[in-house]
Amino acid sequence: MAKKIVIVGAGVAGVNAATKLVDNGYPGQDITIVDMGNDPYNRKPEEVMTGFLGAGGWSDGKLTYHTAIGGQLSKYVGEKKAMALMDEVINNFKRFHPKPEEVQCSNPVEEPEFIKPYFGLRLFPVWHVGTDYLHEIGKNWYDYLVSKGVNFIWNERVFRVDFESNLVNLTVNGKKGECALEYDQLIFAVGKSGIDFVQEIQDEYQLETEPKSVQIGVRFEAPQKHFQDLIDISYDFKLYRKFDNGVSLRSFCTNNNAAYVAVEETYGNHSYNGHAKKDPKYRNDMTNFGILMEINGIKNPFEWSRKVVNELQFAGTGLYYSPSRKPSSTSEGEKVSSIQIDTLDIVRHGMGEYWNYIEDFIEDMKKVFPTLKDDWGVYVPEVKYLSPEPLVYHSDLALIDYPDVHFVGDALSARGITVSGAQGILAVEKLVKQECPWDNIQGDIIDWR
Ligand SMILES: Cc1cc2nc3c(=O)[nH]c(=O)nc-3n(C[C@H](O)[C@H](O)[C@H](O)COP(=O)(O)OP(=O)(O)OC[C@H]3O[C@@H](n4cnc5c(N)ncnc54)[C@H](O)[C@@H]3O)c2cc1C
Repeated sequence: MAKKIVIVGAGVAGVNAATKLVDNGYPGQDITIVDMGNDPYNRKPEEVMTGFLGAGGWSDGKLTYHTAIGGQLSKYVGEKKAMALMDEVINNFKRFHPKPEEVQCSNPVEEPEFIKPYFGLRLFPVWHVGTDYLHEIGKNWYDYLVSKGVNFIWNERVFRVDFESNLVNLTVNGKKGECALEYDQLIFAVGKSGIDFVQEIQDEYQLETEPKSVQIGVRFEAPQKHFQDLIDISYDFKLYRKFDNGVSLRSFCTNNNAAYVAVEETYGNHSYNGHAKKDPKYRNDMTNFGILMEINGIKNPFEWSRKVVNELQFAGTGLYYSPSRKPSSTSEGEKVSSIQIDTLDIVRHGMGEYWNYIEDFIEDMKKVFPTLKDDWGVYVPEVKYLSPEPLVYHSDLALIDYPDVHFVGDALSARGITVSGAQGILAVEKLVKQECPWDNIQGDIIDWR
């Protein structure tokens, strides 16, 4: 008899894990997915973080296709296997896409002279699914899993996992009670919206972890025309620069043509991200991208980031600064939630000396893109909370001390749709391989130090 698999989180990691299982004949009836958000038929566009297909799987759809981006997949399984896992994720998106022929890969090849000597440019391929198809993809994908018998529990939150008794406690009608699901294998795929829960579990079970860096900055927005020369070479361009003191900066998640800034709510604070629509009716000829600093060597990076984000809030939302512009609108036509500030003093105070790196980055962009001048704005802050990464077996991402529990996706610092989905697949691969019965899982512990 197949053993019970519980998946916490119906984001890209959890959904790809379930798909791998049922595609290979694992009985859907033995798989239960719990998510505190909505199914794809009831999930609203503004529910950015929670529900079927999780965060970027619902509101964006750029599938990065390189092992240098997001998480440590190639460290776990090597380059070749990592790419094969990513292929599976991309094929899943194509398979449930209403117009798979529209999924295209941009693959820039040359680093243009004009950005030197101010910036380097990271070039890597990206598959573009099209934000406006994601909801349909979600519904098709969900219908497939339901048709295979997979059980879903929506709008309920898992608030405790008992690793000793293999029990998952979840709310009933939103209230904590005694309801518990038993598991033989647990896929823990709670993403960024569950990062505080990850921290709680790490503390409770004193899991051994790897420290992570701080990732903080702003979401930069400007009319697309200023960046067109670079966009023609690389749609999702990644400008970067690195300093000797452990600080590096990169432009992150570039959106063009129909580009919208999105508000994320984490720990009751607002931060920013962005997404792009494909349907021409949404075209606004704007570009937005994060300017993210990676700062190494900060003690308690998670707490530090939370404190800074908290300081960069005003009247319950984030900040907007521009020398000439006003905050723009969401794709629903509403103003992006933010308080416009006239000076950057509060930002300088919140980020301290690190703000200078971002200011320099913007000043240098003005040199490289000469029409930009003062025609830009920044939404503050953008943040990627990376909680310390639990140590896992590389072969199936199971915890060293609890081999029935697999951490995947952003819960394991994946940072991206493709890598998160790939981790979901990797975690369950052994469960469906005849030659390696999962009763005998013996993951390898490899060189994580
Ligand atoms: C606006 C936005 C745009 C993005 N765009 C891109 C992009 O274009 N390309 C890219 O590669 N990456 C993008 N990302 C990042 C990407 O979305 C994430 O890296 C990826 O979704 C992580 O997948 P995941 O399955 O680990 O977690 P998620 O997708 O975050 O899913 C986690 C799920 O777990 C559920 N959950 C959390 N805690 C609990 C709990 N306690 N009980 C029950 N359920 C719980 C949540 O409801 C959620 O549905 C974007 C992120 C955002 C927010």
